[in-house]
Amino acid sequence: MADCIFCSIVDGDIPNHTVYEDDDVLAFLDVNPLARGHTLVIPKEHHERVNDLPADLAADVFATVHDLTDDVEAAVNAEATTIAVNNGPAAGQEVPHVHAHIVPRSEADGGKPVHALIDNPPEVDDDEFADVAAAIRDD
Ligand code: AMP
Ligand code: ZN
Repeated sequence: MADCIFCSIVDGDIPNHTVYEDDDVLAFLDVNPLARGHTLVIPKEHHERVNDLPADLAADVFATVHDLTDDVEAAVNAEATTIAVNNGPAAGQEVPHVHAHIVPRSEADGGKPVHALIDNPPEVDDDEFADVAAAIRDD
């Protein structure tokens, strides 16, 4: 897609440090890493959000995340990784081409878990749990 920075990377118009590539998926180092080895995994085809991806392409992207995680951890001697997708602008997505972050982590990095995303999580009672679960199942 025109004006998409990640499409430009796929097209070879913007330099990057590629760590994996096949016909459908590309993985490269994040230019502003949260940690050494911070890697982005993208579908080559332009789609904005995870829920826009065809199911087979979503599976390919996640399979690549799966296959690369050991390699990323080993390359930078990380104890763990945070694997995350900012899925839509309201969730902090800045580049509108779906990408999974693989962020190397260690006990000493001072980073936070996904649970630190929200300062004031809701208190949900049993009825609300049931209603929300039903709404998701029915969609
Ligand atoms: P997000 O907020 O999830 O959309 O994250 C976008 C990520 O893309 C950020 O972590 C940026 O550092 C990264 N990024 C932006 N431009 C480039 C680029 N040209 N090469 C590598 N990573 C990039
Ligand atoms: Zn794109």
